[in-house]
Amino acid sequence: MENPTVGELTPPDRTLMGPGPSEVHPRVLRAMSTPLVGHLDPSFIDIMNEVQDLLRYTFRTENQWTIPVSGTGSASMEAAIGNLVEPGDTMLVPTNGYFGGRMESMAERAGGEVVHVDAPWGEPLDPADVQLAFEEHQPDIFGFVHAETSTGVVQPDVSELTSIAHGHDAYVIADSVTSLGGVELKVDEWDIDVAYSGPQKCLSCPPGASPLTLNDRAMEKVLSREEAPRSWYLDLSLLEGYWGDDRAYHHTAPITNVYALREALRLVSEEGIEARWERHREIAGALKAGVEAMGLEMNAPEEYWLPSLNAVRVPEGVTDTDITSYLLDQYDLEIATGLGDLDGEIFRIGCMGYSARPETVSYLVSALGDALREHGADVDVEAGLAATSEALGR
Ligand SMILES: *Cc1c(COP(=O)(O)O)cnc(C)c1O
Repeated sequence: MENPTVGELTPPDRTLMGPGPSEVHPRVLRAMSTPLVGHLDPSFIDIMNEVQDLLRYTFRTENQWTIPVSGTGSASMEAAIGNLVEPGDTMLVPTNGYFGGRMESMAERAGGEVVHVDAPWGEPLDPADVQLAFEEHQPDIFGFVHAETSTGVVQPDVSELTSIAHGHDAYVIADSVTSLGGVELKVDEWDIDVAYSGPQKCLSCPPGASPLTLNDRAMEKVLSREEAPRSWYLDLSLLEGYWGDDRAYHHTAPITNVYALREALRLVSEEGIEARWERHREIAGALKAGVEAMGLEMNAPEEYWLPSLNAVRVPEGVTDTDITSYLLDQYDLEIATGLGDLDGEIFRIGCMGYSARPETVSYLVSALGDALREHGADVDVEAGLAATSEALGR
């Protein structure tokens, strides 16, 4: 058999404005070419400590139990749900987007009973409905999605939701995959027990090491489980041996991804977390101003518009996938179409981390305008560009 030969690796040079991954900051890419040390090397232990401190800063928490989980956002999600939910526990999950459904699958696999709190796709949960669901089902764990990437909706009133849950002695798990580092998120002030996230959304880091934080109350539940969690790899009582005081081998940390996450979090700390939230609002605000002035409509009303993921309604007369393919072919620009109940109805335009820059947003507005006009939509591209420039102060 002949040796296989393959060409040089040259993926296209895309502008990433979809639901993730976002563009990676050049400093993060450079950090990824740093030579490896062993995952128990004393120098790596210092790096682990730094990453944990930087994660606490970014999550706005003092939680000792703050670590990057090896794997993508779904790994930190499963670490949260698979450790908190014990067989026979009841978990309350939302039905207003794609990721509530994933919470449900994970809770079931953990041996939990699942109950629902409903809201339409494209709307946040109403605290009154959460209250009713608690009275009816008395769940042990309540999961909600802070920034729903499938609908472009941010959940307001988080403190109200956590106080309902705590009034019923339940634990709260927040999906903050598309909010961490991009949208206001205050784990301690809002009394969230467990929050998980991912690196490739607002942190602009490649996928591979995913933020997770638990307060002491949640960690006590995890450490006093009668039955071990079903996943050995994500068992937090074992991971404690590596990320806690012992620093003992459990599995080999993805060293390069930890370097990358450290650099991405250093960028957060240099910018300042509040300034970073503000930048996302400003830059995504210019995107929103542009698409609205062009004649398009945002799916979410202003009160729960999610700057990191802009859901824009597909205008009359065009097919969503024609536009996304055109943008990819003609502009090397990635945006996404809708999912689930919003399939065919919205475009999902990310404005996350390093992708949230004036030049990417101007490019997006002009490219999207061209794509829609080419496909026969009634849009005023010039008005859109003017509104974006004005919002950007240009
Ligand atoms: C992306 C995402 C996830 C899953 O993360 P992966 O890195 O794709 O595993 C979970 N929740 C939300 C809200 C997301 O946007």
